[in-house]
Amino acid sequence: LICVGDHPASQVYIRNKITACDQVGIKSWVYRFEGQRSERAVLNKIVELNSDDEVHGILVQLPLPRSFNIERVIEAIDPAKDVDGFHPVNIGKLFSGKALFSPCTPWGIMRLIDHYKIQVEGKHAVVVGRSAIVGKPMAIMLLERHSTVTICTSKTTNLSDHVFKADILVVAAGKQNLIRGNMVKKGAVVIDVGINELPDGSLTGDVDFSGILEVASWISPVPGGVGPMTIAGLLTNTVKAFR
Ligand code: NDP
Repeated sequence: LICVGDHPASQVYIRNKITACDQVGIKSWVYRFEGQRSERAVLNKIVELNSDDEVHGILVQLPLPRSFNIERVIEAIDPAKDVDGFHPVNIGKLFSGKALFSPCTPWGIMRLIDHYKIQVEGKHAVVVGRSAIVGKPMAIMLLERHSTVTICTSKTTNLSDHVFKADILVVAAGKQNLIRGNMVKKGAVVIDVGINELPDGSLTGDVDFSGILEVASWISPVPGGVGPMTIAGLLTNTVKAFR
């Protein structure tokens, strides 16, 4: 695990990942780097870890400081150790339907969907958000499973019209209360990826949980829904990388 700077949420995520690794018997090491001017040192560490046979997975905790060239850092990781699935080689494999490592959050969401035996094929899936780590790979994975997919962004007009058509709705916008009960079709499956911090320090998602509970057939809570599944995805990819 490579961590740059002291972004508060990153410290929590790193801690959770270390604990999860401990729980399943994966050995983890954290390398911490200070602020803006440490890109060269981070790249050197990645090169060293790429050739270390003891290390099977390399993860760079995001976000990186603004001064960093994030593509350069991610592309430095050996694709066979890229357990986050962010390297262009792994993104390419995902798009060609032959993913080696799926990005952890969409992977975790597919596991939730499969665990609860939710039918994907032939359904209309709507993904709100198109980030490289959640929205885009999520849409591709749903498409791969034969759903009809709509992707919404901040520039989408009539968001409600699109959302209302969803049999499966995945919301990853990082906007509290973006989706309310009256926007969702009865019986829809609603997966809330968003993590928003409230003034009292507690966390909430992107959907109005209690409002949607009335209409949805399934809804994932925040915290406790997609978050832990993302970590499960990371552990699974690490075991895959080892094998
Ligand atoms: P980004 O900020 O990278 O992307 C957000 C996306 O949402 C963008 O594509 C943006 O559109 C879109 N968006 C923003 N506002 C709206 C709107 N009003 N209507 C429609 N689309 C909108 O975020 P991430 O994808 O990295 O993360 C999304 C959320 O999920 C965050 O809250 C993050 O903390 C959380 N998260 C949770 C994880 C977990 O394990 N539970 C893992 C990763 C993220 P545009 O492209 O046009 O700007």
